[in-house]
Amino acid sequence: MSSSGVPEAGRPVVFRNGIVLTMDDSHTVLPKGDVLVIDGKIAEVGKSLTVPDGTFEIDADNGIIMPGMIDTHRHMWQSAMRGYGADWTLTQYFVWYYLEHGMKFRPEDVAAGNAVSALDAVESGVTTSVDWSHGLRTPDHGEAAYEALANSPGRFILAYGNLAGAPWEWSQEAPAFEFARDLGVNITTHAGVWGATNDDGIRLMYENKAMQPGYVYVHAATLNDESYQMIAATGGTVSLATESEQTCGQGYPPAHALRKHGIQASLSMDTSVWQSADMFAAMRATIGADRSWEHMHAHAKGDTVTHATLRVEEVVDWATRGGAKALGKWDQVGSLEKGKLADVVLIKNDDSPTMTPIINPYGHVVYQAGRGDVHTVMVGGELVKQNGKLVAGDLAGVRSQLESTVGYLQSELGDETWKAGMNPEIPETEILTNPYQYTRD
Ligand SMILES: [Zn+2]
Repeated sequence: MSSSGVPEAGRPVVFRNGIVLTMDDSHTVLPKGDVLVIDGKIAEVGKSLTVPDGTFEIDADNGIIMPGMIDTHRHMWQSAMRGYGADWTLTQYFVWYYLEHGMKFRPEDVAAGNAVSALDAVESGVTTSVDWSHGLRTPDHGEAAYEALANSPGRFILAYGNLAGAPWEWSQEAPAFEFARDLGVNITTHAGVWGATNDDGIRLMYENKAMQPGYVYVHAATLNDESYQMIAATGGTVSLATESEQTCGQGYPPAHALRKHGIQASLSMDTSVWQSADMFAAMRATIGADRSWEHMHAHAKGDTVTHATLRVEEVVDWATRGGAKALGKWDQVGSLEKGKLADVVLIKNDDSPTMTPIINPYGHVVYQAGRGDVHTVMVGGELVKQNGKLVAGDLAGVRSQLESTVGYLQSELGDETWKAGMNPEIPETEILTNPYQYTRD
C-alpha cells in the first residue's frame, strides 16, 4: 500500500517496511520497519506501527530508510562553476579564486551558486549542509548568500567568511575568532593543508587559547601527533573531505590519525568546482582512502592486512551522526529516534539491479547505492524529493540564474582566459626506455 500525490502540509507520513538504519547509540537496525512522522518530528520507529487515520504511506519495501545526511563543509557559492576545475591542483585553485577571479563574483553570483548547491544537496539526501561561504567580500554578498539558503529546501548553516585574507593567513585570524566567540557562534577553519596552513597554525591557536569545543577543523591532513592531540584536548572535530584531499593535495585523508587520537569525524564534499556533491561519493572515497593507507603501510613493511579497521558502518555513522555531533545538533538530527526532527532519506530503486539483494545495508549504502537511488527525502516532515524527483525548490529558475552568472563570468574573463583556466598545462611524462621487445619468432 502506498499513497500517491504530495501529502498536504500537516498530514502524518509513514515509511513502511524498509530496512531502517536508526543510527541511534546502539546502531539499531530494523530489517522490516516503519518510521512515523507527525508534525515535522519522528513520532515512532518500529515494526508494523499503528498510525493515525489518513496517514500518508510511503512504501519502503526493498529500500533502506536512514537519517538525512549531513555535510559539514561545502563551498556552496562555487557550485556556479561546477566542474570547471576538475583538472586543477590546489595551487591553481588558490590562484584562480584568491589572486585572479574570486573578487569578480557579484552577490547574485554567490546566490546562484548557493541556490543550485542547496538543491544538489537535498536531492542527494543531504538534509543539513554547512555553507562554507568564503566569498563574502561585502555585506551585500552575505545577504545574498543568506537569502538564497533561506529560500531553498533543506537545513543550512551559513559559515561566514571572506576573501580578504589569503589562505596562508588563516591561522592568524585571532580577532575574527574572538569576535565569533563574543557572538557565541561556532568556528570552522581549514587546518592542516599542505603548503598553506600547518602545525604552527594549530600551535598558535592553542597557545592563544583560540581553540574551543565544537570547532570543526577541515581537512586536518598535514599535521603531526601534537596538533591532533591539541584538537582532541580542546574538543574539536575534523571534517574529512576525502575526494578533495585526494584530488587537490591538502594531505593524505587523515581518518587513520583521527582514529589514533580519538577525534570525532564528519564528512564533507568541499567544492563542486572539482568534486562530486553527494555523500555516497564521500563515504566511498573515505573508506577507500583509509583502506589504501593500511595496505600501503603494511606492504612497505612486507606485511599483509588481514582485517580492515574502518568499517562501512562507521562511515555511515560519520555521514549522519558524526555531522550532527560536529555541528552541535545531535539532540535534533543525525538519527531516526522518537522526538528528533524528521530528516529522513529512503534509498530505493526497484528499476535498478544494483538495489537487490540488500544483504548488508551499511555496505549497500557505502559501496552499492548512489544518488540516483535516493527515492525520497524529507526535511522536517516535508517531502522535498519523492519517487526519485525533486518536488521542492525551483530548479528551472535556478538554472536561468546560473546561465546569467556563467555568462557574466565568461565575458569578464574573456574566452582565452576562461579556456586556459579550465585546461591547465599538463606536466610532461617521460616514458622509460623499455628493454623488452616482443616478437613472435
Ligand atoms: Zn574547503
